[in-house]
Amino acid sequence: MEELGFTVVVSGATGKELINAGVKAAVDEVCLPVKVFLGHSLALTSQCDALLIPRLVSINRKDYICPKFMGLPEMTKQAVGAHPVLIWKSEQNSDLGSLKALPLDIRRNFPRRQIKKGLQKAKTTFRIYHGLLQQGLFPDEAERILFGAEKKHRAEDRRRMGLIGHPYCLYDPFINLDLVRLLRRYGFKVLAPEFFTPRQIAEEQRVLAKPLFWTLSQRIFGAFRLLCKEKVEGVIYLSAFACGPEALIGELVKKEAKANGLPLLQLDLDEHSGEAGFVTRVEAFIDLLNRKRRLNCV
Ligand code: SF4
Repeated sequence: MEELGFTVVVSGATGKELINAGVKAAVDEVCLPVKVFLGHSLALTSQCDALLIPRLVSINRKDYICPKFMGLPEMTKQAVGAHPVLIWKSEQNSDLGSLKALPLDIRRNFPRRQIKKGLQKAKTTFRIYHGLLQQGLFPDEAERILFGAEKKHRAEDRRRMGLIGHPYCLYDPFINLDLVRLLRRYGFKVLAPEFFTPRQIAEEQRVLAKPLFWTLSQRIFGAFRLLCKEKVEGVIYLSAFACGPEALIGELVKKEAKANGLPLLQLDLDEHSGEAGFVTRVEAFIDLLNRKRRLNCV
């Protein structure tokens, strides 16, 4: 967008007020991440001329992103009222990185060559960013390196904890009550699904009699199996309240954990999650891991 002369405005960090606005704008049945998304969209309306909302349907052949994602542009339009919303990928079968996926208003008003140059730049940045995540960095650290504010550092050799769930639950410190920082304070290096390549995740699906329909569920399942091989001490699974696909994938992960003898803690996130209860459960889980470690040393 900057290549075309637009100023990109990004919403700030999630906070209580923003979630409350999202909850008010959403229908009751939607999951917490959608409410958070609507809250961010509403916060941006006073700062920009139009919102650009992606429509994610299928990013890999034969598997799909959840229906709530597909309906995000419509839910956002409903929430923001008369504020202009441009839909990124409104045409069927267009690839998100293609020219055809961009809103007609943009394709009509800018030279093709200029748009292609911008898309190319975005794809390169995206590839580098994912490369950094696969080296074990978290999104905030990768962004700081990408935009020149921090030098790359090697993660020290620490105890290892797996963290799985949808990326918007794992990387938003407000909705997950800053779990990553808490785990790091206890001396853990935290490994998340984004540390593995799509090919590694795809290979892990082979053990299933039937492929999972949802892309993000495949990522959670594949990452869990890979974390078992990485010999993490335990895994924390952050699931979003009212998430349909997670009802199934949660059971599969529990079975895998049992089969591998790997301690698993599942925590549900919703807009009412209280810090005290949440932290107590995490600390009890860490106590259990400490005890297991001591027993293995005897
Ligand atoms: S996958 Fe679950 S958490 Fe994510 S948008 Fe769909 S219902 Fe919500």
